[in-house]
Amino acid sequence: MKISVLALQGDFAEHAEYFRKAGAEVELVKSADKIRNSEALVIPGGESTTYNRLMKRFGIIDALKELKEKKVPVFGTCNGLILLARSATGEDPDYSLGFLDITVSRNAYGRQRESFEADISLHIDGESSFRGIFIRAPKILEVGSSVEVLAKLGDEPVLVRQGPFLGATFHPELTDDTRIAEYFLRLAEKATS
Ligand code: GLN
Repeated sequence: MKISVLALQGDFAEHAEYFRKAGAEVELVKSADKIRNSEALVIPGGESTTYNRLMKRFGIIDALKELKEKKVPVFGTCNGLILLARSATGEDPDYSLGFLDITVSRNAYGRQRESFEADISLHIDGESSFRGIFIRAPKILEVGSSVEVLAKLGDEPVLVRQGPFLGATFHPELTDDTRIAEYFLRLAEKATS
């Protein structure tokens, strides 16, 4: 399975490594053509305002919207989740791409908790614990009825799936625990089989 990792800005190198560790072939992509030809795409952590600007400059917004129409699996982490949401507070609505029927609030944990680690409860193959690394993370405020919550921090959803689209408010790629990459690979394999 080949995973394309969007490499405009942010921690795309860590995502590439994370998916390689999980057994995937990885390609870094930037152009509309490469995005259109992706079997599965990862949008990394980064700064969503910068991403908005770069997505426009690289002319890739339509290519990303096509992935949504074609139901190509996409996984967004933190910044990536913000871009996949139906809407995000403080964002230009043009760039909330609406892959996931959720609303999010950016940088929602406040200054004192800009970055923190906490155990989250993961509901993939039963219930288990996962070390969540949160970096200026967004909060998911609303979740539509077709969205499945796959992990929670306390009562808050932090990993959600809608069909072939997956989003995390935390950074699994900064851990050695490849379970979330493996889960996305399974989604991607299912979509292409
Ligand atoms: N705070 C960033 C934003 O709102 C997201 C941070 C991240 O991706 N780690 O764009």
